[in-house]
Amino acid sequence: MKVLVCKTCKNILQISKDGKTECIHCFHFPESDSGLPEEIDVDLNEVSCGICKRRAIDTEWRETLPSYNAKSNTFYCGCRGWE
Ligand SMILES: [Zn+2]
Ligand SMILES: [Zn+2]
Repeated sequence: MKVLVCKTCKNILQISKDGKTECIHCFHFPESDSGLPEEIDVDLNEVSCGICKRRAIDTEWRETLPSYNAKSNTFYCGCRGWE
């Protein structure tokens, strides 16, 4: 599936209420390319949780991929809670 990641840090972007993309990891560097979207193709069979290694395809998160990072190809499934 296609996801939008941050050009700078490759973390998945969130869409704010006014329709802008924002990166929760580097939004405080406005002078950089932070938050610029880059569309990438993700194979859910290859994405796994960075902690418990569960595959995204086997979780309820296959639509949203919380904390997905394109560099490591991992996401966070919530196995340690959602503080
Ligand atoms: Zn970023
Ligand atoms: Zn997990």
